Amino acid sequence: MPRKKQTKTLDLCNKPVSGWEILKDRLADIESYNREYLAFLSRVKTEREAVVYFREAAKGRKDLVLVENRGKVVACCRKGRLPLGEGVRLVVAHIDSPRLDLKANPLYEDVDFAMLKTHYYGGIKKYQWLARPLAIHGVVARQDGKLVEVAVGEDEGDPCFTIEDLLPHLAQNAQYSKKLSDAFQGEKLNIIIGSRPDFEFKENKVKERVLRMLHDKYGIVEQDFVSADLEIVPAGPAREVGIDRSLVGGYGQDDRVCSWAAFAAARDARNLPRTAISLLVDKEEIGSEGNTGAQSKFIEEVLWELGARFKEEVVPSRVLYRSKAISGDANGALDPDYPEVHEKNNAAKMGYGVCITKFTGARGKVGSSEASAEYMAFVRSILNRRGVPWQTGELGKVDEGGGGTVAKFLAAYGMDIVDMGPALLSMHSPFELSSKVDTFSTYLAYRAFMEEE
Ligand code: MN
Ligand code: MN
Repeated sequence: MPRKKQTKTLDLCNKPVSGWEILKDRLADIESYNREYLAFLSRVKTEREAVVYFREAAKGRKDLVLVENRGKVVACCRKGRLPLGEGVRLVVAHIDSPRLDLKANPLYEDVDFAMLKTHYYGGIKKYQWLARPLAIHGVVARQDGKLVEVAVGEDEGDPCFTIEDLLPHLAQNAQYSKKLSDAFQGEKLNIIIGSRPDFEFKENKVKERVLRMLHDKYGIVEQDFVSADLEIVPAGPAREVGIDRSLVGGYGQDDRVCSWAAFAAARDARNLPRTAISLLVDKEEIGSEGNTGAQSKFIEEVLWELGARFKEEVVPSRVLYRSKAISGDANGALDPDYPEVHEKNNAAKMGYGVCITKFTGARGKVGSSEASAEYMAFVRSILNRRGVPWQTGELGKVDEGGGGTVAKFLAAYGMDIVDMGPALLSMHSPFELSSKVDTFSTYLAYRAFMEEE
C-alpha cells in the first residue's frame, strides 16, 4: 500500500468519541433497550427477585437454558456450534447490591415506636439511608417449611418505612462537629415500622400490635425473623433523569446494569460459535464469599449440567481453562463535582460507552486480576469491528482508593478475563446514575463477545 494512503487512514491519536455520536443512528434501539432495563430495575431490588425475573423472562425459550443455585444465582446459557470442550464465552455479573439487612432479633419498642435493627450489607455511605422512603423485600422461612415472600413499600397504596434523622437544630454535637465516618453509626440505622399502641396489651403495646399484624398478614411470629433473608432497600421505581431523559437513575445499578445486559445478550445473541453463559452471582458486595458468591464452585456444576443436557463429555476445569470471560461490573465515572479523585486521562466518562478496565485493585494493583496485553487486544478488536462505543477507565487516581471485582475468582480457573461495564455516578448510593448510551453499549459489547470468534 502506498505510504501516503496509509498515513491518511491511520488513527495515530486515540481520541475518545461520545457514544451518542457513534450510535446516532440507533437512538430508537437505545430507548427500547433502556425501557426494558428501567422496568427490570424498578421491579427487582434483591438477588432473589432478579433470579425470579430472569426465570419469567426466559419462559418459552427452549434454547435459553437456566441453571439456578439456591434461588440467588442463575446461569443463563445458550448452546454454541462448537463442543463445550472448546471453551465457553462467559459473562459474570452480580445481582446483589449494597443495602441494610435485618438482624436475627430485629424487632423492639422504644419511645412508643416499633423499630427494626439492621446490619448494613456492602459499602454504603450511612447518611444516604436516613430520612427517605424505604421498602422491605425478602423471604421468611417458617418452621413448617413454608417460604413467605415479603415485598412492602413499592406499590401505590403500600406503606413504606424509614430511618429518621436528627433535626439540624440539635445536630451540633451529635453530627456536625464529628468526622463523617463517626457522625453516622451503624447501630443507629433502625427502621421505624409502627407507632400505634394496642391497649389490649400490657407492655410493648406498639411492638405487640405490629407482631399481631405481621401474623395476620404473613402467618409469622417473632422467632421467624431468625430464619429470614429480609432486605431494606430504597422504595420506588427507577426514573429517567435529565430534561433530555439521557440518564437512568435508580437503586442497584451496581451491578444490575451489567446483569441485565448479560441476560439480554444471552437471550438475543445469534449464531454462537461457542456456548455462551451469563453467570449472575450473589455476595459480590461482601467479597464473593459463601455458597452463592463467585468463590463458590457453582460454575463447575453449571458445566456438568450443560454436559448432561448437550450429551457431551465435560471436565469443567478443562472447559474453563479454555474459556474466555468478561467480568461485568460497574465502574466509577469521572465526577463533575469531585474531579480531584480521578486522573483525567484514565477515568471513564459517562456517555462514552462501555468501560474496559485492564486491572483493578488498590495500592499497587493489589487484589487485581490483570488482563494480559493479548487479551485486551482480542477484546478491543471485537468492539472496534462491531462499532461498539468503548473506553478504558481506572477506578480513581493512584492511591486514592480502589476496589475489586469477581474477575480474580474466575481467573483462578486459568481462563482469560477482563472487567467491562458502564461507569456510574453516585455509585453504591440509593439513587445511582447511568447513561442510556452506556447501558446499551454494555449490552452490545457482551453480545459481540458472545457472537464473534
Ligand atoms: Mn459491582
Ligand atoms: Mn459494588
